[in-house]
Amino acid sequence: MASRPDCLFCKLVAEGEHVRADDGFVAVADINPKAPVHLLVLPERHVDTFRDVAEFPPEEAKRMLDFVAETAREVGLEDYQVVVNVGRGAGQTVFHLHWHILGGGRPFE
Ligand code: 5GP
Ligand code: ZN
Repeated sequence: MASRPDCLFCKLVAEGEHVRADDGFVAVADINPKAPVHLLVLPERHVDTFRDVAEFPPEEAKRMLDFVAETAREVGLEDYQVVVNVGRGAGQTVFHLHWHILGGGRPFE
């Protein structure tokens, strides 16, 4: 799917400040961090939710996972959480697929 004009995270992809961008993915700092380091990794193309990952070509799914891991490594995290909220009932509020990277201390209580 291409960029959607009504999607907050499509706008972030196009105009936001990126911690990292490569290979069809971007990482941004979460606007309301829930940990000392809280990044979001997004595919540049619009994908609603993690449910759609089944439709990804295997090579793209692998690149996305590599991008998440490489982003954490580049910002100096060794121990961290990777969280994906899938669907409103699980806390997903923005319907453009994103992976939370949370780390940098003991933020998880
Ligand atoms: P969700 O609840 O959908 O899993 O996560 C959405 C995340 O996006 C939340 O952690 C929220 O703080 C973050 N967020 C919402 N609006 C913006 C924004 O405009 N910019 C950035 N960088 N993060 C945002
Ligand atoms: Zn989008």
